[in-house]
Amino acid sequence: MTEIIDGNEVAQEIRDGLVAGIDGLTDSGTTPCLATVLMNNDPASQTYVSMKHKDCEEVGIATRDIELDPEAPASALFDTVDELNADPEVHGILVQMPLPDHVDEREVLRRIDPAKDVDGFHPENVGRLVAGNPRFKPCTPHGVQKLLAAADVETEGANAVVVGRSNIVGKPMANLLIQKSDGGNATTTVCHSRTDDLEAKLRDADIVVAAAGVPGMITGNMLSGDTVVIDVGINRVETDDGSELVGDVDFESAKQKASAITPVPGGVGPMTRAMLLWNTVKAASDESGVDVELP
Ligand code: NAD
Repeated sequence: MTEIIDGNEVAQEIRDGLVAGIDGLTDSGTTPCLATVLMNNDPASQTYVSMKHKDCEEVGIATRDIELDPEAPASALFDTVDELNADPEVHGILVQMPLPDHVDEREVLRRIDPAKDVDGFHPENVGRLVAGNPRFKPCTPHGVQKLLAAADVETEGANAVVVGRSNIVGKPMANLLIQKSDGGNATTTVCHSRTDDLEAKLRDADIVVAAAGVPGMITGNMLSGDTVVIDVGINRVETDDGSELVGDVDFESAKQKASAITPVPGGVGPMTRAMLLWNTVKAASDESGVDVELP
């Protein structure tokens, strides 16, 4: 019987597990606070940002909501980041991507105080992750790690195949899977658009994490059986009735071969949101010196 890993349920457990820590921090005078900065007119980005605010509100995390004119010079964004870095009441800073073409994304990421970099994309935090001493684990791969743990998937010694090598998903995912710690110790292969014979790599996999952004590219006949399949992909595809969201995995055929599988939607997506809250609470705890137990 294939286990369907319910991301909504695990994400709810994470949120519930954060509340005591948030209350403890607030009682000791530090209300965790996430600031978001939006500098585009993209409706999807606006929706993501408003969901992040709603998620924070539900667990008692304060928020700042900053919107900048996409036509404004890059310096307006840098000044905003500098102000948020200096603001003792702000613990986490998230600059929503994409940015306008005239703003250098890497320069923005470098500008955020690494101690407030709850996305985990600052080069210092990337370096710490690679060195095995992470401060903030990037939200999506961290969420995948929590899903694997919730489904009692043993990563130690497993053959893990990550499909995708982006800075926000594929690379940090692979780094987490090879860490010498719980949820790591996997023998990890990273596949990408230039990989020769992806199917051979997938056939050897005990765990597949799909993050390529190609709808339904991984099908059941590519898996050897008893595989744990985590589908990070979120792709909008046209249907007869309009459109729908699908993953990078062909769910129906992969389910026949998987021992456990995540659906889309309702798998990794809710975990990414929950782990942003997790990182914000960690940032507030680190900054205030008030210890909290993180779920
Ligand atoms: P990206 O476009 O930055 O990277 C995609 C990666 O997949 C690249 O490294 C590329 O080499 C690889 N790739 C592309 N085609 C491939 C192929 N045919 N075979 C093997 N590898 C291939 O994308 P991303 O930002 O990493 O996101 C990947 C997917 O995950 C997207 O669908 C995105 O929407 C989704 N996503 C979901 C969440 C979530 O919370 N669930 C978070 C971030 C991204």
